[in-house]
Amino acid sequence: MNRYDLTIHQAHQLLKKREVSALELTKAVLEHIAHVEKKVHAFVTVTADEALRQAAQADERIKSDDLTPLTGVPALIKDNMCTRGIATTCSSRMLENFVPPYDATVVEKLRDAGMVMVGKGNMDEFAMGSSNEHSAFFITSNPWDLARVPGGSSGGPAVAVSTGEAIYALGSDTGGSIRQPAGFCNIVGLKPTYGRVSRFGLVAFASSLDQIGSMTRDVADSALVMNVIAGYDPRDSTSVNYPVPDYTKSLIPDLKGLKLGVPKEYFVEGMQRGVEEVMRTAIAKLEELGATVDWEVSLSHTKYALAAYYIIAPSEAMANLARYDGVKYGFSYEGKNMWDAMEKTRGYGFGPEVKRRIILGTYALSAGYYDAYYLKAQKVRTLIRREFEEAFERYDALITPTSPTVPFKIGERVDDPLQMYLSDVCTLPINIAGIPGLSVPAGFCDGLPVGMQILGKPFSEEVLFRIGYAYEQATGWGERRPQLEKEGK
Ligand code: GLN
Repeated sequence: MNRYDLTIHQAHQLLKKREVSALELTKAVLEHIAHVEKKVHAFVTVTADEALRQAAQADERIKSDDLTPLTGVPALIKDNMCTRGIATTCSSRMLENFVPPYDATVVEKLRDAGMVMVGKGNMDEFAMGSSNEHSAFFITSNPWDLARVPGGSSGGPAVAVSTGEAIYALGSDTGGSIRQPAGFCNIVGLKPTYGRVSRFGLVAFASSLDQIGSMTRDVADSALVMNVIAGYDPRDSTSVNYPVPDYTKSLIPDLKGLKLGVPKEYFVEGMQRGVEEVMRTAIAKLEELGATVDWEVSLSHTKYALAAYYIIAPSEAMANLARYDGVKYGFSYEGKNMWDAMEKTRGYGFGPEVKRRIILGTYALSAGYYDAYYLKAQKVRTLIRREFEEAFERYDALITPTSPTVPFKIGERVDDPLQMYLSDVCTLPINIAGIPGLSVPAGFCDGLPVGMQILGKPFSEEVLFRIGYAYEQATGWGERRPQLEKEGK
């Protein structure tokens, strides 16, 4: 097996036994990046020097037996999390030259655990998008078919983990940005409960929805990353002071005693037939593994989630993005006077999708429309949340597809915002409700990966890990890697 193909726990075993050094592992990953990056374009910045320096430090720690499961393991960070001294662009012209003077809490925690950071991952500008086509810099390709999108907005991180350009990654998820690209690239992506992981140092998109989570090659790795990044942070007032369990304890390979529900509204109209088949087979497998499955659950408010999201998220985004005025930091354009300078800064600095969201949000919050749009969306949000609460009185978890289709072609949806927004129809309600969602590889349809989404009540990540782990161990779908070399792509 190539070194860059290892999982965190496999790499850790080799590092611990000194069968490989952190430096060797890091060099293998950096060489691999140089090789495949031309094809997939997953990185905004490759931080080779930083990585080699951290690898040498990790080797020192290993020598003195002071290692954690993440020490010396190469990782990629989505480019919307602040990294001290390293550009954090949000894949936007607005922040192209922004170098943060501090680390996000999650980055600090990973550094303390001995992370080797190999770079910053490409994304849709300010995390607005589902395909990475809204990056202001370049499009990332799906390694399973280079003509297709990797999903978004954490497309760069998903691709890097899937190809071996990083062993794990951190992404952010406001409406599906971890889970949807994870599903499209055949990796494991977790959006934790709102408040479970600190967002200090995450560039804000929609603050009541944003969460940071792990993107990994298997469920055990996801548990290992969560063990480090979860927990209360006084610097993030929305982070919750609730005990963090050892998530690896939930990796049990059977589902005896668990009650699962399948909400029929997630098998939406327009869903790809092959995806539905994969899902039905996957759920039958969960039954075989010991779970009781109710195939006929109804969450009738699901149909309003997309509309509510596209009021709430742009409204919050519009307020959050007001800070980019060309004065405090980031891109700045000269003008005749203050207003002219601000208009030009924002006009040239933001891309079209970001502007669309700002306009939508401004409209939804404007005096005459606030009640009709924003307030109504918030009421719908409450109904959606309650419906989930009721469902979780009956079921330990709900099972849905992560996306209604396999990865679509580059260019296919980019000119039709509604089509693009529809690709998140299964993931958005989860952020609206603040509950956790895990996407695991479910199988393949026409040679392309399909993700299965597992949902639970707040702070039930352990249950999600247990289900994901049992399924993964029984099927092995996640072990398939894209064959970039073999097919001469
Ligand atoms: N695709 C959704 C959007 O465009 C969600 C993005 C995200 O989760 N950051 O808003």
